[in-house]
Amino acid sequence: MLMKLSRRNFLQRSVYLSAATALPLPTLSYVLKASKVMTVGGSIKASHMGMSLIHEHVLVDFIGAEKISFDRWDRVQVVKKVLPYLKEIKGLGIKTLVECTPAYLGRDVHLLEELSEQSELNIITNTGYYGARNNQHLPQHAFTENAEQLADRWIKEFENGIDGSSIKPGFMKIGVDNGPLSDMHRKLVRAAAITHKATGLTIASHTGPALPAFEEMEILNEEGIALNAFIWVHAQHEEDSQKHVEAAQQGAWVSLDGLSESSVERYTEILKLLKANKLLDKVLLSHDAGWYRPGEVEGGQFRAYTDIFEFMLPAMRENGFSEKEIRTIFVSNPSKAFTISKRLV
Ligand SMILES: [Zn+2]
Repeated sequence: MLMKLSRRNFLQRSVYLSAATALPLPTLSYVLKASKVMTVGGSIKASHMGMSLIHEHVLVDFIGAEKISFDRWDRVQVVKKVLPYLKEIKGLGIKTLVECTPAYLGRDVHLLEELSEQSELNIITNTGYYGARNNQHLPQHAFTENAEQLADRWIKEFENGIDGSSIKPGFMKIGVDNGPLSDMHRKLVRAAAITHKATGLTIASHTGPALPAFEEMEILNEEGIALNAFIWVHAQHEEDSQKHVEAAQQGAWVSLDGLSESSVERYTEILKLLKANKLLDKVLLSHDAGWYRPGEVEGGQFRAYTDIFEFMLPAMRENGFSEKEIRTIFVSNPSKAFTISKRLV
């Protein structure tokens, strides 16, 4: 896929392609084509991500960091339950699913590998810790170690693999609470910045409202990280859409990722506003659907990953979004957002 370079994108990219910027264009486009993302099946070209759902879950277990363990679910049972939903979206044209369940909340890379093989979908997993929900999903060492020590653990997962496997994270997933950032959550953001500098992994942060999002962005700025390395997760929880515009203007990815039939109208309005500001190349869309729930009968109620096809795409077409713009949001933006590259200012 030949990526189009607007002047602004070119300037952003030139920061992390500094060696390439002095070269003639054919070489530059070669470098962009060589962009990679990391899936549970290994590294692939970013241009092979195809149509992607960037925030979904296979399994989530809210039991808490103290009690969680892999024997709380049976992988065979989970595969049996989840595989039909993955095959369903594969049939609708999805090529890549980004699985956003962090460690201590049910991240199970062996399960993801099995599901990826059987569904023939690319699945991307993550490293990082989730401080939202009042720190109950943080392991004990997260309270005692400093940002460098936490980053060291996440960098090791990128270098060596997760949970004794050779499966590597394709991005970072951290999480903070709704209000002003606590010291604990500032530490997580700093650990993410350190990890980014070492690995080039994108930082997706479960955040919600603009207040903590802009605080996170400020910390990343201080740490010298370009904001196109940051995904503002659950940005739909911010009521004031001017904040979405502002964050996108600063380079951050705005992730509207709780899509269901009831939110189609609002998401469409936000997309229109971003489009009017020429910022459609900064937005990501997904369902936050799934997921198998250990402890419930047969994993409980599972929500399919299909509302985008059923409700959102028709609404976008009715509202004048072109096929090219739809491709920007579901194909081009995910491949750029999850490309592994050090983005520094
Ligand atoms: Zn989620």
